[in-house]
Amino acid sequence: MSTAFRTQTCGELRAEHVGQRVALAGWVHRRRDHGHLAFFDLRDRHGITQVVTNAEDAADAHAAAEPARNEWVVQVEGTVRHRPEGTTNAELATGEIEVAVDRFAVLNPSKVPPFYINEEQPGLDETLRLKHRYLDLRRPPMQQRMLLRARLASAIRRALEDEEFVEIETPLLIRSTPEGARDFVVPSRVQPGHFYALPQSPQQLKQILMVAGYDRYYQLAHCMRDEDTRKDRGPEFTQIDIEMSFVTEDDVMAAVERMATRVSREVLPERPILHEPFPRITYAEAMARYGSDKPDIRFGMELVDLTETVREVDFRVFAEPIAAGGAVFAICAPGCADYTRKQLDELIDLAKRHGAKGLVHLSVQPDGSLHGPAAKFLAGRETDLLAAVGASAGDLVLIVADADRIAGAEALGHVRLAMGDALGLRQPGVLAYVWVHRFPMFTWEEDGQRWDATHNPFSAPVPDDVPLMESDPGAVRAQQYDLALNGWECGGGSVRIHQRELLERAFALMGHTLEGMRDQFGALLDALEYGAPPHGGIAIGLDRWAALFADVDNIREVMAFPKTQSGADLMMGAPSPISPGQLAELRLHIVEED
Ligand code: ASP
Repeated sequence: MSTAFRTQTCGELRAEHVGQRVALAGWVHRRRDHGHLAFFDLRDRHGITQVVTNAEDAADAHAAAEPARNEWVVQVEGTVRHRPEGTTNAELATGEIEVAVDRFAVLNPSKVPPFYINEEQPGLDETLRLKHRYLDLRRPPMQQRMLLRARLASAIRRALEDEEFVEIETPLLIRSTPEGARDFVVPSRVQPGHFYALPQSPQQLKQILMVAGYDRYYQLAHCMRDEDTRKDRGPEFTQIDIEMSFVTEDDVMAAVERMATRVSREVLPERPILHEPFPRITYAEAMARYGSDKPDIRFGMELVDLTETVREVDFRVFAEPIAAGGAVFAICAPGCADYTRKQLDELIDLAKRHGAKGLVHLSVQPDGSLHGPAAKFLAGRETDLLAAVGASAGDLVLIVADADRIAGAEALGHVRLAMGDALGLRQPGVLAYVWVHRFPMFTWEEDGQRWDATHNPFSAPVPDDVPLMESDPGAVRAQQYDLALNGWECGGGSVRIHQRELLERAFALMGHTLEGMRDQFGALLDALEYGAPPHGGIAIGLDRWAALFADVDNIREVMAFPKTQSGADLMMGAPSPISPGQLAELRLHIVEED
């Protein structure tokens, strides 16, 4: 890619260019001096090329290069030649050649960076990285990740456009659309006391686009949710937002699956997809087998429901939850019978952190007997228990009992993942996509003492369950699906309610008054009365998908300018106070905390 400054990039030159006169521009990655020779690794995002100045052959160039240090921006001109015998570098795409420089120009010097650009530094302080993000993004591993993300986004666009999806942008200054988080709001200057909300997602707008007839919509949409940051969640993120008309659950899942398969093959050809087609399991099955609604199916170690096996056992830890209608779940960690006290304590802590009252552990001895504080309560039932759990000599059985079936399964699900990590079963080399569907439509909110939507309030119930909406809301299943990949929730969506009357019934169940509904969702409710087609959609988290592809465990590693844990942009210094003049213009004043 030639420009006025260069004939090639730093990643392009090969043996076939030997003898050619070239110009390169880039950053000094490393410099080595050997008497009258100075070697520079010149770097840009395309690669690294070795260039050499020689005091004898080109004294001026050598002198001009003298001050150049790491991260200076320079331009060189010279001739491509083979590297001398024995000095070729097979790890570098340009490793067979070097450029003999006869003109060297410093385009811009650099201060000494606060961290190395040319070396990996384990444990490099994230605050420092974020403050000088331009330097962090210049580091080759970071550049690899940003380029991977760009390839992913581009493959997504191509896959969707080949299936006749059209990209339509929706505004950032909108009226609040609920996705279960707090809104970021923007005050209006023109209408003092009025606020826009930044989209938690373009949910209502994409549904309205269906009413408008754009039957296959997508957008790489920026979404903002004012909620606590986690490894897989930040205040700002990008989602591949999709909506389709005249579809059922199956149609949406099939379209997304085709896109995900094609994109995975194109972007990561070396990582096989574990199961094709992607398995589909119901929410109830996912919870019962994996203790998670985003199961990592790269390994087994499935949960076993031991409730019936231990129903008669005289052990308070099991008996009380069972009497309260709960359940006892177990997993078998193969070959872990010799876990130390410390390792077991860590697992117990982990289960407790995830809400379990405790974690019962039993080591299976060579003679089939059980060892552990609870073993005596199970005397005489060892064989039944081992058969139920599928354990044998040398294995470790881990059990959680809980009055709340789902809570107990979830806690043990976390222990399962930890054991998967400990035993090296969560191989990053494969892509294990799985659909989880048929979620409960409503969950009971203790705080507000009301039913709330598990996904978003627009999801449609499974048709058979519609009659249960008022009589048994907790039993209603939604036409809702999540896509999980290697234990992460990668996306979720639903078939929507497209009839006003049914939507009003669902809203009423969630405690909305008629006026409240009109106020918050008036546009969508109105639109539903003008020929709304049946429709459904999904949103896939681009940051999460990119993080999984890049094999990093934090989405900040695949975002160019992420916020910190506390929502700050350390480089630009946001959020920041605004001037008294701006406050006055917006008719706002800040109430100081005492
Ligand atoms: N709007 C939903 C979300 O952002 C996705 C969807 O239902 O399409 O989670």
